[in-house]
Parts: sequence; structure tokens; C-alpha cells
Amino acid sequence: MGGVHPEENKISTQAVIEQMPLPEQVVVLMNQHLGAPATPVVAKGDQVKVGQLIGEAQTFMCANVHSPVSGTVLKVESCKDAFGLAKPAVYIQVQGDEWVETIDRTPEIKRQCDLTPTEIVDKLKEMGIVGLGGATFPAHIKYAVPPGKKAEYLIINAVECEPYLTSDHRVMLEHAEEICIGVSILRKALGVPMAYIGIENNKPEPIAVMKAMASQFEGIAVEPLKVKYPQGAEKQLINAITGRRVPSGKLPIDVGCVVSNVGTAFAVYEAIQKNKPLIENILTVTGKALPSQHNYQVRIGITYNDIIRHALGSLPETTGKVISGGPMMGKAVCNLDAPTTKGASSVLVMDEKEARRKPETACIRCGKCAEGCPMGLEPYLFSALVRNNRIEEAQQRNILDCIECGCCFFSCPANKPLTDEIRLGKNKVRAMMMAKKK
Ligand code: SF4
Ligand code: SF4
Repeated sequence: MGGVHPEENKISTQAVIEQMPLPEQVVVLMNQHLGAPATPVVAKGDQVKVGQLIGEAQTFMCANVHSPVSGTVLKVESCKDAFGLAKPAVYIQVQGDEWVETIDRTPEIKRQCDLTPTEIVDKLKEMGIVGLGGATFPAHIKYAVPPGKKAEYLIINAVECEPYLTSDHRVMLEHAEEICIGVSILRKALGVPMAYIGIENNKPEPIAVMKAMASQFEGIAVEPLKVKYPQGAEKQLINAITGRRVPSGKLPIDVGCVVSNVGTAFAVYEAIQKNKPLIENILTVTGKALPSQHNYQVRIGITYNDIIRHALGSLPETTGKVISGGPMMGKAVCNLDAPTTKGASSVLVMDEKEARRKPETACIRCGKCAEGCPMGLEPYLFSALVRNNRIEEAQQRNILDCIECGCCFFSCPANKPLTDEIRLGKNKVRAMMMAKKK
């Protein structure tokens, strides 16, 4: 049902992962995950090492935060994130590159994992692992299946259906073995017999590499999938692999499924087998107007401007917009001095022409937005309801089921900002629900 075919623009697939040099300073946000911010456990003047705990999860929905660098804590105060929201943060002046001794930095790849499922989940918590597919859901919560629920399928999302993004593509080519070990560990944590790695058919090289590697492991299958955006959305992926449908308002575990991104599986390998907390991620620096395309391994807390300076010198004069994420679901960065976070997947530079939105015209009732919606929703109706502040009605028509994929906006010949309006409507519905609860 639904879905669209945007131009793929995967122009950075050949760019091997490079290590981004250390900046002079990093700013580490205390909420880089879904849920409450971590509580800082360092103060101004403290010396920290790479991998040292600097923010502790003190509530259920929270994740630990570790220092991505060694150096001196300059201050602990709020910082505006890439989208202009103030968040608590630890500022660290970088000095050297001294790692916590317990982190195994040798190139040896370890396959054997003797931890029990409970020990795996505890370690995911200790290491601050969160989902790297966009939602940044704390992994220790996802992999501790609640009583009364049963996991039957582990699904690894390696679809990367968003145009331009290639970090998952590269990580599969360069770290297939570590990914398969990470998947085996997650499979053990859940106690499921099989894990399925879903990859779109337009990625023949990663499919071949992952199939060859998966054949060396028990209980891992690679599933090539039809090319259609948003094939990588959680509910669409579950349906494509298992044939099951997640009902409105329900979670994947309600139909026996747990889904994690392929980058998360790599981070799980590093956490469990190498004792390495989540202090780095791999992101794509791309754009049609750029002189070069890149995939970088970066320490969390480096700013967007630091990345741009290293990769490009400066932004091209024709730049219209910088996006964190892909063009369909990503968000425009309004503060390039903001630090990157665990969930950052790209720095996408669009030129003025590509970034410019066409003027909106009146709805012609063509129904293309509903046709393109993978969730079977009525975007044109939500638009009208939100504009008229009929929030209760929008809730009754399941506006919260919207996954903000952007297919409706992409399909609309009247250029109506449907996804933006629906996002606003969802926020209003949540606020209304909170007010009612109180
Ligand atoms: S953004 Fe929401 S309403 Fe629009 S197509 Fe995607 S799921 Fe449907
Ligand atoms: S696609 Fe655009 S013009 Fe067509 S019905 Fe939906 S909102 Fe109206």
C-alpha cells in the first residue's frame, strides 16, 4: 500500500568510511535519545577519558552518555541543538586521545559471546546504546521484552531507502562480520531462532557481501526487498518480511517483532565484544553541488560546522539548506554550530534550487496524497483539520499513525506542506492528551 519513488541520488556510495580528525572542543548533549536527559556526572575542571561515563540514565526511558574525547570539562550548561532547542550539555576541551583502559582497541574481531541474555541487555544499558535508525530508542528497553509479550522475529533494517544516505551501505561493505556478530548477540538476547536483514534490491553489492557473511552464521538470513520508499519504515519492513501488520496504536512487539537498524547492530558488536560505549557514529556528507562526497566516522559532539570545514572547507555559495538526515524525513539544521548526536546520519547540502519549495496552490482533490500514504491515511483531510484547529477529530482519524515519511508532500501537485501540518497536528494532539490526563 502507498509509497513513492523519489530520485535515489546515492552519489556517495563509493566513498569509503574515513576517520574525522578530532576537533578542539566537543559539546555532548545529555539527551541524544528518546526520553529524559541523562544526568551529568562530571563538573567544570574534571579530566575525562574517551569512553568515560559523563551522563547517567536515572529514569526508565533514558540512556547513558559517555565522553567521545579525552580532555578537560569546560562547563556543564545548556546548548542549542541543531534545530534550535536548548538542551543540557557537557562542553569538553579536547586534549590528546586517551581512552578508558577497558575498551579493546585492537583490530581483532571477536565472534564468541558468553554473556547471558540478561547480561547482554545490562551491558547495552551500561554502554548507552540507542537505535541508530532515527528514533534513538534506548536499546536496553527494546531488548528487555516486557512480560506477556513474546519476540518471534528479529528484523535488521538495512534498507536505507532515504535518498542520498549511504552510511548503512558503507558499514555493510566494510563491517559485515561485526554486523553479523552484533545480530547474533541481539538474537541471543531475544531468544529468537532467526534474524532477517532486509536490504532493498537496488544495493546488490551490500546484498552480496552480507549474504556471504551471513552464511557463516547460524540463524541469519538476508532478505532482498522491493525498491519503494519508505520500505525501511518499521511497520512497512515488518510487513514485507513477515507478512504481519502492526495495528494502529500498537508496537512491533505486539506482533512478535523487534526491529533494529544495521548501524545499531554494529554498535552492539562494539559495545558487547569490545567494551566500547556509543561515542562515534558514521555519517554521510553529500549533496549534488559539493565537489566531493564522503562517509565519515565521527566522534559524537563534533559540530556540523567542524564537519563541513573538514570535508569541504566551507559551504558552496549556492547552498540553500543543510539537512540532518535524508530529504524525505530529515530536518533542516538551523544552527550549524550545534553538535552532532548519536542519531545523526548525514550532513546533506542542498543548493538553492533543490531547497526551494514551490508555491502552494489550492487542493485539487486529486487524492494523490492518500494514494501515496503507506499508512492508508488521508493527508488532505488532516491538513484541513489542523488548519481549522479541529484537533480532536484529527486524533479520531488516527493522525498519530502518521510516520512523517513525507510521501504525501512528495505526491502533492498543489505543493501543500502536508507533512509539516501533520507534524504540527500530532504535537497538538499529544498536548491535548497530556492536558486531559492532568
Ligand atoms: S507523512 Fe504521514 S500522512 Fe503523509 S504519507 Fe507519510 S504517513 Fe501518510
Ligand atoms: S495530493 Fe494535494 S492536491 Fe491532491 S488531494 Fe492531496 S492535498 Fe489535495
